[in-house]
Amino acid sequence: MKTIAIVPAAGAGERMGTGRKKPYLLLNNRPLLYYSLAALDNIPSIAQIIVAVYPGEERICQREVTEKFHFKKSIQIIPGGKSRQESVRRLLERVPEDIPLVLIHDGARPLITPELLKQAIAETIVWKATVLAVPVKDTIKSANDTLQIEKTLSREQLWAIQTPQTFERSVIWEAHQRASQEGFIGTDDAALVERMGVRVKIIMGSYDNIKITTPEDLIVAEAILKNRKK
Ligand code: C5P
Repeated sequence: MKTIAIVPAAGAGERMGTGRKKPYLLLNNRPLLYYSLAALDNIPSIAQIIVAVYPGEERICQREVTEKFHFKKSIQIIPGGKSRQESVRRLLERVPEDIPLVLIHDGARPLITPELLKQAIAETIVWKATVLAVPVKDTIKSANDTLQIEKTLSREQLWAIQTPQTFERSVIWEAHQRASQEGFIGTDDAALVERMGVRVKIIMGSYDNIKITTPEDLIVAEAILKNRKK
């Protein structure tokens, strides 16, 4: 089914502690953003890719990523918003109405594989709304402001949510419209869909599909890539 991939990559990346924005930091000599785009570029049902970058860095993204490497698909670059949710909303505004599926994948998750992307699209045809996730390995507790534990959550039911998150276009469009009208801010796109009463299906992701947030994540990503090449 015809799908558009939208890639929020417009964060300031402050936790990396570098002057450069995250999409252009090098992982095995290639910019971080290259990896997500290369995986998406490999999926036949993806018709087009749209990326949101830090406003004003559209030309840098072209120069360092989309023009520097060979991609088969058309890749459009737009300025993102102040929050991830706003970046995704701006990306959704560029998706044509005749496209049935939208796959959202963070530019900060370079280790996604074409196999998982294909699975996400196939399952969304059945379920309408899907997210990749892995069972949490740690025990998760909630605590109050003075760091006293209030509750221990039952680990059997807890999942660490990743991207891609894939939706029928009309479902994610309406979810973002409603959230914006009602001033709701979620930490992922699925949360906006869940609050409309739509069931979101979990697809088993991969512990390798890490999000690059702090400098040590790059070291881990490099090790995972090296191991894949063996
Ligand atoms: O904020 P967080 O690290 O969870 O960001 C996840 C993804 O959202 C990253 O790929 C980041 O570039 C993107 N983002 C965005 N626009 C923002 C903030 C974050 O596209 N304003």
